[in-house]
Amino acid sequence: ALMITDECINCDVCEPECPNGAISQGDEIYEIDPDLCTECVGHYDEPQCVEVCPVDCIPKDPEHEETHEELLAKYERLCG
Ligand code: SF4
Ligand code: SF4
Repeated sequence: ALMITDECINCDVCEPECPNGAISQGDEIYEIDPDLCTECVGHYDEPQCVEVCPVDCIPKDPEHEETHEELLAKYERLCG
């Protein structure tokens, strides 16, 4: 999964781009639900939130490192 750092400026452009509905507004900044983020695997070649974020504040989440296979399995689980 990816994560949003505290450099987020709450611009709201990433939230509607997420194909998994993984992004929401938290208490202070936007947040990614690691259970829903597939790093866009299964939907797109590139993470859509990273593509649109104007301040480049969406790195990989070191606490939720996943292989491509694991991300694909999550995608298939989410799509039922
Ligand atoms: Fe959503 Fe893709 Fe960003 Fe994950 S990488 S939060 S699935 S847009
Ligand atoms: Fe924050 Fe980047 Fe999303 Fe804007 S696009 S809300 S700066 S994470």
